Amino acid sequence: MKTLDDYNFKNKKALIRVDFNVPVSKGEVGDTTRIEAAKPTIIKILEDGGSVILMSHLGRPENKEAKYSLEQIVPTVSEILGVETKFVNECVGEKAETAAKNLQAGEVLLLENLRYYPEETEGDKDFAQKLSKLGDIYVNDAFGTAHRAHASTTIVANYFEDKCFGYLLQKEIESLNKVLKSAEKPVTAILGGAKVSSKITVIENILDKVDHLIIGGGMAFTFIKARGGKVGSSLVEDDKQDLALEILEIADKKGVKIHLPIDSVIADSFSEMASTDITDTDSIPDGWMGLDAGPKTIENFSNVIAASKTILWNGPVGVFEMEPFSKGTIQIGEAIGDATEKGAFSLVGGGDSVSAVKQFNLEDRMSYVSTGGGAMLEMLEGKSLPGILAITNE
Ligand code: AMP
Repeated sequence: MKTLDDYNFKNKKALIRVDFNVPVSKGEVGDTTRIEAAKPTIIKILEDGGSVILMSHLGRPENKEAKYSLEQIVPTVSEILGVETKFVNECVGEKAETAAKNLQAGEVLLLENLRYYPEETEGDKDFAQKLSKLGDIYVNDAFGTAHRAHASTTIVANYFEDKCFGYLLQKEIESLNKVLKSAEKPVTAILGGAKVSSKITVIENILDKVDHLIIGGGMAFTFIKARGGKVGSSLVEDDKQDLALEILEIADKKGVKIHLPIDSVIADSFSEMASTDITDTDSIPDGWMGLDAGPKTIENFSNVIAASKTILWNGPVGVFEMEPFSKGTIQIGEAIGDATEKGAFSLVGGGDSVSAVKQFNLEDRMSYVSTGGGAMLEMLEGKSLPGILAITNE
């Protein structure tokens, strides 16, 4: 795997695909995490004596809407990097090429929003080739878009001899490999979230890699009902019941232990104001729905987690956005934090569990929190990401 440390950037111009798709409101950047995450890569290149051309998308602009201009984030980027960042309101063409050419060692240039050009998402070759004229070495540090075969994330790499992953993307790949390829046993995956249908491919792929599979959240009820349980009006995908039984059977054959909730916090409506109770998950009364893991379930899940050496967490075990149903997700997060402190490797990724971890201040207690939702899910599904293949030349 070619990474930044394989190169010395002295007097080189690095064209870096970053993910600066940050929330911007009235010119203010709401969350700077993604800019900070790219900083180590940028600083390494500048310290080598190179210069940096940054390219990113912001939102999904139709035409060149000003509210999606990356010019707005220039002061924030300058502040975070500690380097005055230049800006050019194009991505390709003479103006962009001149700005890149005039860049001196130690300087940073940010290009305009890549998605101002439809060619970007189309993966257009001419556009990619024009982008490639801006730098000597291509660096991909945008995990969030690594599953897209866009011009700047994938196609552009074809026009470079010298190309590598940035530190952020390297860390994402290494963390995932630690779980999927070289995991220390026992390995436990905790899958939660709303629907089993969106996680089927993930489940099928990880059954070969884990010793324990904890299934929580809304998706657990399809399994419970398929096994003959009464789940009231909990979230169920009736057409996935056969598949749920099949998954249980395959897991059994592979020696994977499946853990389902045994009790649930139930509510008489999907609301923070609902009346609540706790019952066994397979005997939820009509008109009531399971919205969080119950105390016995939390204890069971936590015991499995405590005995694990590698832990993957994707998806909350309850409706954590509502305070009365957040306890399960918080306590599972804490159990993972405790196991991590005792030496386990923990990876959290793929959408809502990342929001939960941030919301409940558990981020620092995990070994790694992924920055890419869709990209992470695709890797868990066993897919090869085009943005990664473009660098490894596979
Ligand atoms: P996903 O995007 O599939 O990971 O689903 C995340 C969503 O699942 C969150 O918004 C949770 O509120 C929701 N969720 C978790 N547990 C349940 C449940 N028991 N019933 C309904 N929704 C749930």
